[in-house]
Amino acid sequence: MGSVDAVIVGTGPNGLAAAVTLARAGLAVELYEQHDTIGGGLRTVSLFDPDVRHDVCSAVHPMAAASPFFREFGLQERGVELIRPEIAYAHPLPGGRAALAAADLDRTCAGLGADGERWRRLMAPLVARGHGVVDLIMSAPRPRPSDPVAAALFALRAPRLAVGSGPFAGQEARALLAGVAAHLVGPLPSLAGAAVALLLGHLAHGTGWPLPRGGSGRIADALAADIRAHGGVLHTGRRITDLAELPRAKAVLLDVAPKGLLALAGDRLPHRYRRALGRFRYGPGAAKVDFLVSEPVPWAAPEVAAAGTVHLGGTQEEVFRAETATARGRRVAEPFVLVVDPAAVDPSRAIPGKRPVWAYAHVPNGDPRDPVDIVRRRIEAYAPGFTDTIIAARGVPAARMEDHNPNYVGGDISAGAMTLRQALLRPTPRLDPYRTPLPGVYLCSASTPPGPGVHGMSGHLAALSALRREFGVRTPPSPSP
Ligand SMILES: Cc1cc2nc3c(=O)[nH]c(=O)nc-3n(C[C@H](O)[C@H](O)[C@H](O)COP(=O)(O)OP(=O)(O)OC[C@H]3O[C@@H](n4cnc5c(N)ncnc54)[C@H](O)[C@@H]3O)c2cc1C
Repeated sequence: MGSVDAVIVGTGPNGLAAAVTLARAGLAVELYEQHDTIGGGLRTVSLFDPDVRHDVCSAVHPMAAASPFFREFGLQERGVELIRPEIAYAHPLPGGRAALAAADLDRTCAGLGADGERWRRLMAPLVARGHGVVDLIMSAPRPRPSDPVAAALFALRAPRLAVGSGPFAGQEARALLAGVAAHLVGPLPSLAGAAVALLLGHLAHGTGWPLPRGGSGRIADALAADIRAHGGVLHTGRRITDLAELPRAKAVLLDVAPKGLLALAGDRLPHRYRRALGRFRYGPGAAKVDFLVSEPVPWAAPEVAAAGTVHLGGTQEEVFRAETATARGRRVAEPFVLVVDPAAVDPSRAIPGKRPVWAYAHVPNGDPRDPVDIVRRRIEAYAPGFTDTIIAARGVPAARMEDHNPNYVGGDISAGAMTLRQALLRPTPRLDPYRTPLPGVYLCSASTPPGPGVHGMSGHLAALSALRREFGVRTPPSPSP
């Protein structure tokens, strides 16, 4: 095998963002992906009908819309249309009611009664300084607040929410915020959950929670096109089982979880680092269901139909109870479920009589149960008649997620538990978390800061680290079109 400047294993958003950054610096880059299609968590594929495509992992992109990497990369300028739903997320409640987080902050507040002004006081200052908040969270591992006021606003709010209902009195606002906090996939209430609620919560009223027209795969395609335009080569259907299989390169970037790094490098890693990686904790699992249905989801609360994302978890207390029990490894009768009916936002996703519905449930790590029935019953409770619209369904238990993507250990789609410690110091406490002790070998997956989600920042920051150390490049190349 020949040699290149840099090799990347894995083509998730982070592997692709790393490749864009390195190729833009003028390096010869090659990527290796085990699947026949690129994208990792960004794949959109046909499952039941060739004309209906399903997002097998991510579907909704608040992080891609806001992240510093993608802001510069310019998805919209490259023809990826990010469609912003009128209602970012909805939270149905018993009795046919629903709490709604509209893209428009005023509309959201108007729907929350006496809590409306409290919601405004919580979110409006963060929305006004949106880039500052996002840059603070996403510039990990060494947060360099570009906007100290945004950092202060964030820091003052998070501890207040970490202890429970925050400032809210009514069930609607409390449930709405609990549903966003549940994106942590961990025990609630908690400081880490509060940070997630503030980050994603304010984005709903800022850059939004958009869906890419045509599906998440469009984002992967745009990244791949840029890599190829700068000379990069993507190899698919190539599972790497040992670092020795890779061509010689000055830098090797691994879009894998610590478990994957241990498997690829084995004894070559120093004992202490291996032990530290072995101590890395994986979080609760996600069990994914893709439905092919005949009609829009018949939500009991009709206003939910306009939402991009729907959170099914009941009241705040119920969400907290279910999430905490799940994080402790206990199965709950009514787990937290997220639902997206993409054609409600992007009509191009439906054909006559057929449309995809995307859903997943939070379950204990490694849970082997087929989730189809669990999720179907959960949706049916808030959308009577849903069952009758199902044409086909495919469930992936948490225990089988690794078969599809080795990064999701035991179904942990965050590639590592988002405890406060692991949110800040992932995968192990090191000055440069992307560098491994092996010369030229870097981790660039969501198991490194700033963590899970489609933002490309782990890949971009790992690539900048490799550029500095291995190639002496100190000026970050711009990924802009
Ligand atoms: C069901 C589900 C729903 C989600 N929903 C959202 C959402 O709506 N919005 C959002 O922002 N995020 C969402 N996420 C999370 C998001 O997809 C991930 O955080 C993100 O994809 C992580 O990117 P990554 O590049 O680190 O890794 P991944 O996207 O996991 O990519 C890793 C890639 O590396 C490949 N790979 C691993 N090991 C090897 C090997 N040895 N050889 C070759 N190839 C290898 C894998 O096949 C994969 O393609 C979701 C995830 C899942 C599973």
